[in-house]
Amino acid sequence: MTFLEYAPAPESKAILKLKPEYGLFIDGKFISGHGKPFQTISPSTEDPIATISCANEQDVDVAVSAARRSYEHIWSRLNGAVRGKYLFRIARLIQERSRELAVAESWDNGKPIKESRDVDIPLVAAWFFYYAGWADKLDYAGLGADPQPFGVAAQVIPWNFPLLMLAWKIAPALAAGNTVVLKPAETTPLTALLFAEILEQADMPPGVVNIITGAGETGRLLVNHPDVNKVAFTGSTAVGREIARAVSGTHKKLTLELGGKGANIVFEDAPIDQAVEGIVNGIFFNQGHVCCAGSRLIVQESIHDDLIERLKSRLSTLRLGDPLDKNTDIGAINSPAQLERIKALSSAGEVEGATRWSADCVMPAKGFWFPPTIFTNVSTSHSVARDEIFGPVLSVLTFRTPAEAIAKANNTPYGLSAGIWTDKGSRILAVADELRAGVVWANTFNRFDPSSPFGGYKESGYGREGGRHGLLAYLKSGAPATFKRSEKQVPTSASPVKAIRRSRMTKRVV
Ligand code: NAP
Ligand code: MG
Repeated sequence: MTFLEYAPAPESKAILKLKPEYGLFIDGKFISGHGKPFQTISPSTEDPIATISCANEQDVDVAVSAARRSYEHIWSRLNGAVRGKYLFRIARLIQERSRELAVAESWDNGKPIKESRDVDIPLVAAWFFYYAGWADKLDYAGLGADPQPFGVAAQVIPWNFPLLMLAWKIAPALAAGNTVVLKPAETTPLTALLFAEILEQADMPPGVVNIITGAGETGRLLVNHPDVNKVAFTGSTAVGREIARAVSGTHKKLTLELGGKGANIVFEDAPIDQAVEGIVNGIFFNQGHVCCAGSRLIVQESIHDDLIERLKSRLSTLRLGDPLDKNTDIGAINSPAQLERIKALSSAGEVEGATRWSADCVMPAKGFWFPPTIFTNVSTSHSVARDEIFGPVLSVLTFRTPAEAIAKANNTPYGLSAGIWTDKGSRILAVADELRAGVVWANTFNRFDPSSPFGGYKESGYGREGGRHGLLAYLKSGAPATFKRSEKQVPTSASPVKAIRRSRMTKRVV
């Protein structure tokens, strides 16, 4: 079969005005870290992008102290409406700089520009707009009148949706009145540092948001710092376990968003071509580096052969290559370490007896790449059906009855997401009720909205992000009425900066 040839349509990097080196963003300023600087590279070309500071113990301490000061003297004293104005301002600046942010994200992470441009960055802005709206309505969050922030939030995020995970963490924390120290992943710090520039543009008071870069050790130092009140982590289940152990027995509140092995269940009455698109979107979106990916296809036996044939033919049309090309469907794998993991888990699948098929893609000579791959003849005991591969690899299982589909879908240590494809609304409701997954999509997959809570069961973590529930991760019930903070003391100024100056003169009652 011959396909249309696409002329290259690369997005220009000229829009980016990057510095060759980035410091840590602490107390409103970029400063050099005391750890060993490292480089962030493009995973599609292996070219260096910028040199990044590394925060050591002393830097982590300085960042947490800045966040503490800012919490005590500025942010927690502000009227919610004023906090909201800052968040609205950030949201608008993200929209204004969206093209630049999309290019930076795709360059640093390897994801296709059409995803960063049409999914990641619009959702980042949406998250800030959404929580900006909540900032002066916390009394309606479900914790009674005048709920209180925790204080300083330590936030550690992964590399798969760098700026979006930052937004999921920072927007609700700030809306609730907490201050933040955030550590992006070592391989994708760029957009978090551009976000620090956006904070400067937004005239954000110093210390409210601090961005510290570094590898896992910097994250460990941050979550273990004695002066943080709240730890929010998104990443692997193994590191999540370590963090849970580290904070147990301390005063710190914890939310964990961890891995997944989502089931995408296709019944024989499903609209089959739509289901094929949904399966592709479920597992090949963002190279499968998606915690809630539909990495297990559970298909009714009667349509298995037809569906797999259509799926293979659809995968053969996906274009793998330059993430900055607007025609690219599959970008680069984020790091050599992740590529090795995907290769090792895929080889294990073959050794265990599953049948491997990969799309016939031309792999670029440099960079980290893996073709869209399907495993058929998979049983629930195979490692490709159990372990999170976090790459463009789909494992296919079959079922005969709805009960069997549900049992297979729930047969996993994870519980983050699931999908159901069927023509019958009643079946959607009945099956969704039985699935132990935090989010269940029906006749679609991988859809996100800031008003919708997201999070897992079992080894996928605990706590929710998004929606009203996402606020509860950053708030506690209000003080007794006699000690209630009077927001009337802090005027709702048209100028947040003026309001801060006034607020500095206002004594907090609590
Ligand atoms: P990871 O290795 O757990 O890393 C996540 C973050 O934690 C990174 O910033 C990492 O730093 C840091 N880190 C590593 N070791 C640490 C430690 N001992 N203490 C504190 N921080 C530490 O996970 P990943 O491989 O980057 O991300 C992939 C995982 O994230 C997948 O399992 C995926 O399912 C999960 N994920 C979950 C969600 C969700 O919402 N449930 C969303 C996205 C991703 P460095 O990277 O700099 O080493
Ligand atoms: Mg990078």
